[in-house]
Order: sequence, then C-alpha cells, then structure tokens
Amino acid sequence: MTTLEDRPTWIGTSWKMNKTLSESVAFIDELLAADLPAGVQPFVLPAHTALAAVRDRLPAGSPVLLGAQNAHWGPEGAGTGEVSMRMVADAGATLVEMGHSERRAAFGETDETVARKAAAAVAYGLTPLICIGEPSAVRDAGTAETYVEDQLRAALAGLSSAAVQDVIVAYEPVWAIGEHGRAATPEQTGPVMARIGAVLAELCATGRARALLYGGSVSSDNAADLLADPHTDGLFVGRAGWTAAAYVDLLHRSATPALCPLT
Ligand code: PEP
Repeated sequence: MTTLEDRPTWIGTSWKMNKTLSESVAFIDELLAADLPAGVQPFVLPAHTALAAVRDRLPAGSPVLLGAQNAHWGPEGAGTGEVSMRMVADAGATLVEMGHSERRAAFGETDETVARKAAAAVAYGLTPLICIGEPSAVRDAGTAETYVEDQLRAALAGLSSAAVQDVIVAYEPVWAIGEHGRAATPEQTGPVMARIGAVLAELCATGRARALLYGGSVSSDNAADLLADPHTDGLFVGRAGWTAAAYVDLLHRSATPALCPLT
C-alpha cells in the first residue's frame, strides 16, 4: 500500500523547443552520470524529435521517466504536423503534457482539446500531465481559484475516477511562466494548490492523483519554499532544468530529508 511517506517528490523539466538530438543525449548522459538523490522522481520532456534517442539512452529500470510535450487526441490520419498518443508511446514516452499556456495561447489548445487529449492519453496507457493556470487579469480580479478549478474539471470530465488517480496536474500561473514571468510566492500559490487538491480528492478513487506539481519560474532559490506547501508533490520546470548541472542541483535541493522522508 502506498503511504504519504512513499510518495516521491516529482521534479520534471520540459525542454520546450530546445535541444538537438546530440544535445538531448548529452544531457541524459550527464544526468545518468550524476548521483541522483533518493526520494525524487525525475522526468524529462524532450522535443518529439529526440524522444526515441533519449529512450534508447536510458537503461532499463532507469529512475528517469520520459514524456512528450504534446500529442494529438486522434489515433491516426489527416493531421499534418501532429503526432498521436500511439506514436509518442511508441517513441518511449510514458507521460504526455497537455494544456500548457504557450499551447493554449499560440496553438489553439482549449479546455475541450485538453479533455480529449487526456482521454486519448489514458486510452494509450500514457499518464496525462495536465497544465492549468490563470492569466494575470484573472489573478488581479481575485478569481484564480475558481478559474483553475473550472479548467481542471473540464480537463478531467471524460475520465473515470480510477483514471483521474493516475493523472499528474501542474498548476502553472500564466503570469509566472517563462523569461517574462514573475516568480510566485507560496502565499500566492498555496490557496490554488489547496483548491486543486480538494477537487482531485473529490474526483479520485483514492483521494489523491498521481502528483500535483507547481511550475512557473521555479529556481534553486525558491524550490524549497514552494515544496513546503502541503498539497505540492513536486515541481515542473522549464529554464531551471535546461542544463543537466542545474537540473541535478534542483533534484538535490528538492530531496532534503525534511521534505522527502524516504529511506
Ligand atoms: C513552463 O513553461 O512550464 C515553465 C515552468 O517554465 P519556466 O520554469 O521557465 O518558467
């Protein structure tokens, strides 16, 4: 039986539209050569072009999980430029990201397409990594919790409670993401994480989803403070994970005995 103490601290990085094949493989080689702390669950999301190469570099039983940054909900067909859930699974992904604010803003991702992607991911045995988060106007209006709850319920609408149990949710306020983002404080994130945790508790067979992560301008400076939140199972990072050295440093900072009491 899984206890709270058994739950690892998830630390994942999306490389976004960065890294060639050789750069991706070099990152993995450096990561595998490093001493990885116990109690932490690393995952990396390369570009689609590097998925299979990274899969081939990871030894059997590697603690590092591999995911895709996006996939289409349809099984196959006339989807020029898209890849399917089946294709990313075939290339080695076990996780698939959806709903990132950059894709919502620039590529037409909506609550409806996120829900379709989540259902398709589950159908192909992939773990959906569902990103939700409010824009700054919503934060300023004081309605972030309701906005994020609505996004979450919409994304999970087509899943059974057993399937919800396997999802990973990343709360990523739009105003905190990327090079123009403002780092959020635990006071800003805490109430939203609590609301997401309450919705997941209601919808999950076991009361908790696989993981609830925070993302948006996470750095080695604020990681410990953000992880101290009781509803936060880990961190989902962009820039702070783009070099293997920085990512390994973040893994170690996230695995303090106080935060991760595994033996
Ligand atoms: C992201 O884009 O999901 C993200 C968390 O980016 P960054 O850490 O660079 O703000």
